[in-house]
Amino acid sequence: AYVIAAPCVDVKDRACVEECPVDCIYEGNRMLYIQPDECVDCGACEPVCPTEAIFYEDDLPKDQAEYLEVNSEFFAEI
Ligand code: SF4
Repeated sequence: AYVIAAPCVDVKDRACVEECPVDCIYEGNRMLYIQPDECVDCGACEPVCPTEAIFYEDDLPKDQAEYLEVNSEFFAEI
């Protein structure tokens, strides 16, 4: 699945939400989150993000690796 990372925090541009064909991008308090079980890996969201916050999970920069966990925690709570 694709993952949203640090550059989204306190930005939440939402351009990705418009692009996602399966509506799997959810809004949290400070950032947006991709539901990994619903994401179909189409990649449509990645290029439209103005802050380049979206990565394929295996391509997350090392210094943002914790966002995989942050994402899981968000969906564990809702
Ligand atoms: Fe939605 Fe496609 Fe982005 Fe997954 S990769 S969140 S399905 S737009």
